[in-house]
Amino acid sequence: MNIVKGASFIKKGRVFDDVFACYQCCKCSAGCPVAFAMDLLPHQIIRHLIYHDTEKALASHTIWMCASCQTCNTRCPNEIDIAGVMDELRHMHIQSGRYPAEPATPLFHHTFLNEIQKHGRIHELSLMQRYTFKRRKLPGKGNLQDMLYDMKLGLKLFLRGKISLWPHRGRSRSEVAAIFKHEHGNKKT
Ligand code: SF4
Ligand code: SF4
Repeated sequence: MNIVKGASFIKKGRVFDDVFACYQCCKCSAGCPVAFAMDLLPHQIIRHLIYHDTEKALASHTIWMCASCQTCNTRCPNEIDIAGVMDELRHMHIQSGRYPAEPATPLFHHTFLNEIQKHGRIHELSLMQRYTFKRRKLPGKGNLQDMLYDMKLGLKLFLRGKISLWPHRGRSRSEVAAIFKHEHGNKKT
């Protein structure tokens, strides 16, 4: 148990204070569509936070598997923002500079945001190329299989005309650039 980390965690605000209302009814976990892929179920993440064991939550695969669908939030009888807690845990993890349990997920987010910053919108082909190229360096047995699956899927989409060869510049490119400038001081994501 990491009391120090837990204590700083609790100071962070309402989304964390809410976890103390949890009475472990498990409705969040029972409704979560990606619970099958999680190592800790949503109610277990909340339980660790209640016991100030932030480290266990941060080290889990769960925080990267969560799809932010908010099903848990709508099912929780105590209106706990579980999706918000997952979001904040991901944020804390990235800020800590540690290696994530599911490295492909933050890599995809990073590549996705880079694409938005560059074109003002997503160019699927470029996103897939960059993501696949960076992903090849990640450790993990299933990586190659996943990459081949993604490539096959990309080819199918291309052949059906769902992916264009060239990027389209988004009309709101300057507004998007302003958002990135505000958030990152004009640095790349
Ligand atoms: S649904 Fe809400 S109260 Fe029930 S276990 Fe999940 S977070 Fe706790
Ligand atoms: S927001 Fe995350 S934890 Fe909640 S139900 Fe969706 S995938 Fe599961």
